Amino acid sequence: MRLITIEFLCFDLTFFCNRLRIALNVHDFINSKAPPFPDSPTPPILTSPLLLQFFFLAMDALRRNNSPFDCLLFDLDDTLYPSSIGISQECKKNIDEFLRMKCGLWQEEASSLRVELFKTHGSSLAGLMALGYDVHPDAYHSLVHGLLPYERIAPDPKLRELLLSITQPKILFTNSDRKHASRVLQRLGIEEECFHRIICFETMNPELFELRPNSTPLQTPPVVILKPFPAAFNAAISIAGFHPHRMLFLDDSESNISTAKSAGLCTAVVGRRTRMKEADYALETISGLRRAIPEIWCDEGGELTGLAVRNELDAIRTTTALVEA
Ligand SMILES: [Mg+2]
Repeated sequence: MRLITIEFLCFDLTFFCNRLRIALNVHDFINSKAPPFPDSPTPPILTSPLLLQFFFLAMDALRRNNSPFDCLLFDLDDTLYPSSIGISQECKKNIDEFLRMKCGLWQEEASSLRVELFKTHGSSLAGLMALGYDVHPDAYHSLVHGLLPYERIAPDPKLRELLLSITQPKILFTNSDRKHASRVLQRLGIEEECFHRIICFETMNPELFELRPNSTPLQTPPVVILKPFPAAFNAAISIAGFHPHRMLFLDDSESNISTAKSAGLCTAVVGRRTRMKEADYALETISGLRRAIPEIWCDEGGELTGLAVRNELDAIRTTTALVEA
């Protein structure tokens, strides 16, 4: 009975704190637009609410969710299935074949161009479009992904169970096209509904699929948005709708991890035993997720971890910086 009473008191106090914090944020914003103390470089109103916000957010964290993560972003290829089955290698062969046919190149020339376009534009498709080739993404993906040996991807019921045990929103965040994402998930035995949202090539580049009269080509080379470029992460953060410091991004690509960290996301590199500089975690395979990052499941009364506290403080700093700007 006493526990229930304390629980209700915590809830009421947190609710009150949330409302008061919103009011203070509005108050800060108004004051930052029209400072009541024009001669003072730091008006007192901006310092006292800062202390209060620390208290309120700590209360929030203790009551609401002891996990440091409100949302998880999963890469697909070589993250949800092992790279050892060679899907990436087959994909590269298919890209070489596409480049060979499209640009009239020898095999070795096509491979070199693929590497170069990846370095400069993030993908061969983006590079070809930037160079002015009239390539429709569907034609590219139907050859590059459509001919992959999907039979190598085995059903993974343990992965399905693992994903379903995560109560926070999960988002699949892949550079691949939607059809490829669906086929991979189907092979893994994971329902698309397991994810709250799928962010794929089409999501990030809707304008490339807009109908053009009489199939006229685009006037200027279009900009293709893909990981690891910041625009892709900004889009994902915006779609997810959570503070980046409270989102966990899992990917096998070091360059993707690097940009994700710059965007403020928590990061976990998959396929490595040791952490890289920009990764908060490292896990050899996705099956080791629970062991590597147990705090994902700390949402039912577990202790507030160091990372959770750090994320809360980072969130406060960012909010404060925005208010003071
Ligand atoms: Mg990947």
